[in-house]
Amino acid sequence: MVAQNVKEVIRKLVAIQKIDEELFAFRREIRQKPEELAQIKLHFDNKKELLHKFEARAKELELARKAKELDLKSKEQDIIKADGSLMQLKSNREYQARLFEIENMKVDKAAIEEDVLKLMEESEKVLKQIDAEKIVVDGEEKKYLAEKEKVDAAVQKLTEDSSGLESRRREVMVTVEKEPLALYERIVENRDGVAIVPIVNNACGGCFMHLPAQVINKIKMYDVLVRCEICARLQYLQEDL
Ligand SMILES: [Zn+2]
Repeated sequence: MVAQNVKEVIRKLVAIQKIDEELFAFRREIRQKPEELAQIKLHFDNKKELLHKFEARAKELELARKAKELDLKSKEQDIIKADGSLMQLKSNREYQARLFEIENMKVDKAAIEEDVLKLMEESEKVLKQIDAEKIVVDGEEKKYLAEKEKVDAAVQKLTEDSSGLESRRREVMVTVEKEPLALYERIVENRDGVAIVPIVNNACGGCFMHLPAQVINKIKMYDVLVRCEICARLQYLQEDL
């Protein structure tokens, strides 16, 4: 390749590089936006799960209370029955014994009543938590849906802009020889969208490694494409273009 040709190839690759800078930035955004949205979704899902836990707890408490209320009812019936049987007892000893039983049953009944009250209090607390959590979940859902709409629109816009850039890129690409173009493509994919860099203050514009004078001289000759020994990117001098 003669010197003029190498410079011409570099000019074109630099033009592609300018497009690729935007293109890779768009691609990064297209990748990142759904990831950010997933974080918001996760937060929303966690809040929903907490609400479901409260609801399950409320159900549990209700069932426990119903069971206790049945216990209470049967205890009350036992007491009524025992009370009614007192008159039929013959001996004072039996009478006293039955009275003692009845007293014990009343103590049990009071304990059950206390349990019912406790369960009702806890239910009330959980129901309040459910009401508060529902407001939170509603808010999170609105936030997520609004964000999703924004992200979907942004991704669509980025995708459209990208395809515009891609067609501009193709226009330049077809004017570049196959071999240097293939080399450029390999580097740009492996080096996160930056394949060709200017020398800045005698250092590689990609990895900032200082370059010896003979390397810079080699680049200036434009006989061959020169790559950085450290980051493997193609190099050129801005003022030569
Ligand atoms: Zn470098």
